[in-house]
This record gives sequence, C-alpha cells and structure tokens, in this order.
Amino acid sequence: MTAESPRPIAFFDMKAQQALIRDQLDRRIAVVLEGGRFIQGPEVDELEAELCAFSGAKHAVGISSGTDALQIAMMAEGVGPGDAVFLPAFTYTATAEVPLVLGATPVFVDVDPVSFNIDLADLERRLALVKAEGRLRPRAVVGVDLYGNPADWPAIEALCAREGMFALDDAAQAFGATLNNRRLGTYAHATALSFYPTKTLGCYGDGGALLTDDADRADLYRSLRTHGEGKTRYEVLRTGMNGRLDTIQAAILLCKLPLLEDELVARNRTAAAYAKALAGVVTAPTAVAGATSAWGIYTVTLPDADARARVQKALSGRGIPSAIYYPRPLHHQPAYATHHAGAIATGAPPLPVSEALCHQVLALPMHPYLSEDDVGRIAEGIRAAL
Ligand SMILES: *Cc1c(COP(=O)(O)O)cnc(C)c1O
Repeated sequence: MTAESPRPIAFFDMKAQQALIRDQLDRRIAVVLEGGRFIQGPEVDELEAELCAFSGAKHAVGISSGTDALQIAMMAEGVGPGDAVFLPAFTYTATAEVPLVLGATPVFVDVDPVSFNIDLADLERRLALVKAEGRLRPRAVVGVDLYGNPADWPAIEALCAREGMFALDDAAQAFGATLNNRRLGTYAHATALSFYPTKTLGCYGDGGALLTDDADRADLYRSLRTHGEGKTRYEVLRTGMNGRLDTIQAAILLCKLPLLEDELVARNRTAAAYAKALAGVVTAPTAVAGATSAWGIYTVTLPDADARARVQKALSGRGIPSAIYYPRPLHHQPAYATHHAGAIATGAPPLPVSEALCHQVLALPMHPYLSEDDVGRIAEGIRAAL
C-alpha cells in the first residue's frame, strides 16, 4: 500500500466561495465594464444600502480600505497633535498607525486575558495617568473586535460618554458579529470595516466602509473620502483624501454579501467543532456575555513559545497551515516604541497580557468551507505535538 499525501487544507478559502458565485461575479463585473463608471458608480450606492440593511446601521459609506476608514473617522473628529488615542497593544498595526499619521499619540492599553480585547480597568488606569499629566487631551478610544469577537462595547460607550471621547469600533476582523442581538456597526460613534480579501466579507482587492447612526458624521465621511469636496466637485471645504471604494469592488461585494449570513453560521459551527475536538488541550478566547463572534480568525493559546513552535512544525508536516496574529505587541514595534515611551512621561504601566499572548497564540485554518474532517485532522496534529 502506498501512502497517499493528505488533501491540502486552506488557511482561508476564497476559491470554494468563488465557485458558488462565479456566474454572478462575471455578470456583475461585466455590467461595470459596460457602464464605465469605475469611480462612484451605482454599485457603491447599492452596496451602502445593503450594508445598512445587514448591520442595522443608519448610514454606510464605502471607503478604499479599512485603514482609510479608520483615518477618515478620526479626521472627521479633528483628531491631531496633542490628542491621546487609546487602543489595545495587541492588534494589527493599522489601528495604531492612523493616530500617528494624523499627529496624535497612541496610548497602548493592555488586553483582557479571557477575551483578548481592550481591558477596561487598564484603560481607566491609563486615562487617569494621561489626565494627571495634563500634556495630552484624551480624545478617542479605538476598540478592536479581535479575531471577530466583539469588545465590551456597552462599557466602552459608557466610558466615552462620561469623558466626552470619541468611540471608534475597529471591526475589520468582525463584520457580522453580534452583541446583545445587535450587529457591530450599531455600537460606538462609528464602525470601521475592512473588505481585505481574507476578512469575513472580503472583495478582490482593497476595500472598506464606515458605518454610523449619525447623519452629520456620514456626510463628513462622504466629503473626506473625495478630497473634502462640498456640494459641487470643485468646492473644497476641508482637507480630505482619496478614500473611495472602487465600483468594481462594490459589485463583487454585492455578490458576496448574500452569502455572509450562512457563512457566519458555518464559521460558528467550525469554531464549535474545534472547541469540542480540542477540549482539554487548548482554548480559544471567550466572547463577552451576549456576544456571537464572527470568527474572522480562529486562534488558540499554547502554554509557551516552545510548545507553539512544536505545534506549528507538526501541523506544517501534515500539510496544515497556521499563522501568528500577532508575534509582537505594538509597543515593542520599532516604529511605535518611542511614541509609547513618550505617551505617559511618568512611566506607563507594563502590558503583561499583550506581551504574553504574543508568545502563545496560534491561528488555525478558519473559513466557512472547512469540513469537520479537516477540523479533526488539525486537532489530531495538535494533540500529537503536545
Ligand atoms: C485588516 C485590519 C485593518 C486594516 O484593514 P485594511 O483593509 O487592510 O486596510 C485594521 N484593523 C484590523 C484589526 C485589521 O485586522
């Protein structure tokens, strides 16, 4: 008997989904090619209406990427030099890059050891330090729904309301997640989405959106994404940017959005299968009460870096991909370390949870088309290595 090499497992699978909607994609793209309105075509308006219907947000504005969505949201508030923007130390770099691009100062906050999302007690502590020093004005909190798992939005909203701060939801990994039966997009003053291809709703290039219930903010976002234009194209009211979502990407998203509901169910089914197959071996972060994760990424926690390296190697030997989100906390990144040191001059408290997680987390394949057999194979690989 010859050994058969096992079927490869995709980390993210965009091909299986594409096969389901290929005809529709071809049709929709052909309409854009024939119409010729590649910028701000009718598909962008149609998508914005569909994003509102799906999320429950009153307004949706298509943006060129998730990063640009974060930037436009902060530009609209006038975030700039002298402003402190509180955000988790354990997230993707884009969350921290945006305040710096605008001249503001990121204040890194530790994450909760159970949810891996921003720790409210640590946020209060750092806020008090910034206020006591009086050099920076507390201006905004960016909550990240890491891996698709909602942050504690009622608590973040209450803190921001009390302090007169702007609450921004970086939901780039979490579109479709719910909290107390409401989708993300209806929490915070604004919610930034990314349609990067591997996100829960992804296009075939870069894309993003801002969701808000506030009509004035939505108007500002529309102006800022087109160079700060006013009522006519050649009236410039404010400094803006080129932050538009391409028509062709909107057309692609219109084909994909109708699948999202079922895909979220499939992701939750896969997460449950993982939890069952890995019970007593490793765990994934737990959702806050009342939340359903969008499972953008499925991450487990290993005891230490050695165990993680062993597992990664064992999986790789079985043809199973894995990834680390994130190997370094942001305050240790060369680009941010000095900003971190300067943010709280009297000495910022340590960020032990963010630092520990960087050595422990390992992301496993997660997509709506992963079979239970695949989950079984992956779990077996992990058990064998530990
Ligand atoms: C992907 C991501 C972004 C950036 O989105 P882009 O569309 O790639 O610009 C921002 N924040 C988080 C947490 C992300 O995962």
